[in-house]
Amino acid sequence: MSQKKTKTEKTVSEDTQIETFNIDKVNNFSEWFTEIVKRAELADMRYNVKGFIVYPPWSTISIKLMFDIYEKELDKFGHQPVIFPSVIPESNFQVESDHVEGFAPEVFWITSAGNSGLLEERLALRPTSETAMYPLYSLWIRSWRDLPLKRYQSGKVWRYEGKSTRPFIRGREFIWIEGHDVFATLEEAEAQTREDMQISFNVIQDRFGIPFIGFQRPEWDKFAGAVHTYAADTLMPDGRFLQLPSTHLLGDNFSKAFNIEYMDEEGEKHYAYQTCYGPAISRIFGAMISVHGDDTGLIFPFEVAPIQIVIIPILSKKQRSKVETYSKKLQEMLQEQGFRVYLDNSDKRPGEKYYFWEMKGIPIRLEIGRREVKDSQVTIFRRDTREKEIMDLTTLKESLKSIGKSLTQNIIAKAKKFFEDHLARADTIDQLVEHLENKKMIKIPWCSIDLDGEDCADELKDEFAGAQVRGIDVRETEFPSGEQKCFICGKPAKCFVYVGKQY
Ligand SMILES: [Zn+2]
Repeated sequence: MSQKKTKTEKTVSEDTQIETFNIDKVNNFSEWFTEIVKRAELADMRYNVKGFIVYPPWSTISIKLMFDIYEKELDKFGHQPVIFPSVIPESNFQVESDHVEGFAPEVFWITSAGNSGLLEERLALRPTSETAMYPLYSLWIRSWRDLPLKRYQSGKVWRYEGKSTRPFIRGREFIWIEGHDVFATLEEAEAQTREDMQISFNVIQDRFGIPFIGFQRPEWDKFAGAVHTYAADTLMPDGRFLQLPSTHLLGDNFSKAFNIEYMDEEGEKHYAYQTCYGPAISRIFGAMISVHGDDTGLIFPFEVAPIQIVIIPILSKKQRSKVETYSKKLQEMLQEQGFRVYLDNSDKRPGEKYYFWEMKGIPIRLEIGRREVKDSQVTIFRRDTREKEIMDLTTLKESLKSIGKSLTQNIIAKAKKFFEDHLARADTIDQLVEHLENKKMIKIPWCSIDLDGEDCADELKDEFAGAQVRGIDVRETEFPSGEQKCFICGKPAKCFVYVGKQY
């Protein structure tokens, strides 16, 4: 194999007529995000219902790949897929009182059908599926032999979101997976919330490359109807927290409301214990493109790139047909080898194509000119390091696989560094103020994440530019020594929490 590294090429900047993307992501994130969504064709915002967007192929292909990875991981941990109706009768929805109270303001209701006028019973367009699934769970679960029951469904949910919407990050319709598990004991249910968090780490951090901290949420910020909520928070380039999946310990709150009982081995009846887990793939996609993109555009991890490799023929008049034939054959060969490949034989100039596909985030570009054809080689450009290498066709498959892997590892390492650089600790209020100005996630001593800490959290938010208590790191090993005090009420700290601004 001949491998020659050449310097970063200048093709794009040499061609002055090409409009480049070039937006400073970290300092100008809002503009970066809005522009990349439009220019890379990730969402069409022109659909005429507020908060609802159209997903064109470039985002849809990637999102489907992400679903596939996520579902396989859930399967691996003993879950099985189901499909439930999208509508929930009002009588089901009303059964668990905390749940109703929490979700009622966000529900879309279907009230009439056809020409027959009002429906006898209003139907909620599911905002989440507890109240759709659990009446059936009470029929499915009879004895201890039916447990544990671990099911998930992939689909959409609808919530009437009052805050301003943003594609992928916050909308009125989102695409997600929801897992709903049932156990005989509280201990097993608690263990499931830890397993769900592990699944989040395995998929979101290790495969999609999005670093996060898993938090136990404060009492005042938990899922409606849950005993405890655990959620993964990542940091966006503008220094704000974004919540990724959350997992909820439901205890027996819902099983009592929906009569989910099982008979134990002695023939005695018990209420079951439950958990639910909700990775919103559309939002994870939004985080993924934000975390990995650079000032030139998107960078997809190799595994979830809509197209992994683009072939650009560099055509001269003399050798035109040879280069075209070689490129076509190369495309066929790589497709057979299982790569997602696109041959760009449009009549744009090569420099223009380079810019365009770099902006779209394709991990690898193959350039084919006369020399490559003559020597049975390809020139490989990788999107993350912008380095070029020349490689032989015979070993190309292995080379591409290893470059793809190395690219993903490299962008994950970069994302982790950015994340860790933005973690801070404050022992005084002055330090807290300084870190907040520098857009950090800050660990501080705190009185309590039980309800008696809520007033302090409100005051923190008011006095420190919207800073919010995100919770206790589930991997936290440090506990207050007794010296530390809550910054707000001055009472001895019971725990350390992270605070910061959120989406
Ligand atoms: Zn306090």
